[in-house]
Amino acid sequence: MRAHVPSYQLTTPASLDQALALLSNEPGVWKAFAGGTDLMVLLEAGKLPHRNYINIWQLNELRGIEITDSHVTLGALTTYTEVQANAVLHREFPMLCQAASETGGLAIQNRGTLGGNVVNASPAADSPPALLAYDAEIELVSSSGSRWLPYDGFHTGYKEMNMRADELLARIRLPRTTSGLNHYYRKVGTRKAQAISKVCFAAVGRIENGRITDSRIVLGSVAPIVVRCKQTEDTLNGNQLDGEIARVAREKLMSEISPIDDVRSTANYRLRVATNLLTDFLVNARA
Ligand SMILES: Cc1cc2nc3c(=O)[nH]c(=O)nc-3n(C[C@H](O)[C@H](O)[C@H](O)COP(=O)(O)OP(=O)(O)OC[C@H]3O[C@@H](n4cnc5c(N)ncnc54)[C@H](O)[C@@H]3O)c2cc1C
Repeated sequence: MRAHVPSYQLTTPASLDQALALLSNEPGVWKAFAGGTDLMVLLEAGKLPHRNYINIWQLNELRGIEITDSHVTLGALTTYTEVQANAVLHREFPMLCQAASETGGLAIQNRGTLGGNVVNASPAADSPPALLAYDAEIELVSSSGSRWLPYDGFHTGYKEMNMRADELLARIRLPRTTSGLNHYYRKVGTRKAQAISKVCFAAVGRIENGRITDSRIVLGSVAPIVVRCKQTEDTLNGNQLDGEIARVAREKLMSEISPIDDVRSTANYRLRVATNLLTDFLVNARA
C-alpha cells in the first residue's frame, strides 16, 4: 500500500549549519534525505515509519572529492557516477569504482550516494565492502563539532551504527596506501546487473617474495553487517602463499562468517561462494 504523502515533511535548509541546528534542537525528530533511492522505495511501499526529513542534497559542504598527498576524501553526497568519473579513484581504489559501476542502473548511480549507502546499513550493500577493505575513515558532524572514526566498527548490528541522532555523515576518507596491492572485488547476484548481492567479496593483499601481507578481506550478505574477516587475514598474513595456507584460510573463513537462508539465497550457497571467492582471490594474487 502506498504511503499517505501529506503526512510526511521534507525541509530544505540553506546550509549545513542550519541542518545540524535542526538535528540538535529536536533530536530524533529529523533524519537526512540524500538521494532518496532507499527512502523512496520504502515510501512507495508504505513502509517508511519515520515522518520528518531534512533534504541535504543541495548542501555543497557534503559534496566533492578532495585529493591530498595522503588521502582521497569523498563528500557523503558523492554519487556512484562521480566515483566512476574520478581518475585517481580508478587508479588507486578500483574496487570502489567497480562497486559503483555495479550498483543499480544509471538513474540510481546518478542519484544514490555513498553516504546513503553507508547509513542505510544494509548488509547487502555493495560499496561498504570496498570501503572497509581500503581502511576507510568516516567523519560525523553535529552542531557540537566533528569526529573522525574508523569505518571498521561503525556498524554494530543489523541497521545499528555508532552515530547519534544529531549527527550527519559528512565525509569518507581513504588512505592512499594502495600502491602494490592486489585488489579483488566480486558481487555475486542473480543477474549480472540490477541485482541485490547474494555474496559480495572485497579483498586486498600484497605479495612479496611469495609471502602475503597486508591482506584485508571483507564480505557482504553473509552476516547482519558487512564483515571484515580478521581471523582469515591473520591466518594468511606473513605466510608463504601456497595451496596449504589457502586451505587453512578457507576453513577459517567458514568459521568466521554466519550466512543465513533468505529469499535471495541459502546459507550453504553463500558459504560455498565465499570460500570459492577467497580461493580465486589468492590464486589471482599469486599469479
Ligand atoms: C532500483 C534500485 C537499485 C539499487 N541497487 C543497489 C545496488 O546494486 N547496490 C547497493 O548497495 N544499493 C542499491 N540500491 C540502494 C540505494 O540506491 C543505495 O543504498 C544508495 O547509495 C542510497 O543513497 P541515497 O543517497 O539515495 O540514500 P537515501 O535514500 O537518501 O538515504 C538512505 C538512508 O541513509 C540516511 N542518510 C543518507 N545520507 C546521510 C548522511 N549524509 N548522513 C546521515 N544519514 C544519511 C537516510 O536518513 C536514510 O536512512 C538500489 C536502490 C534501488 C531503488
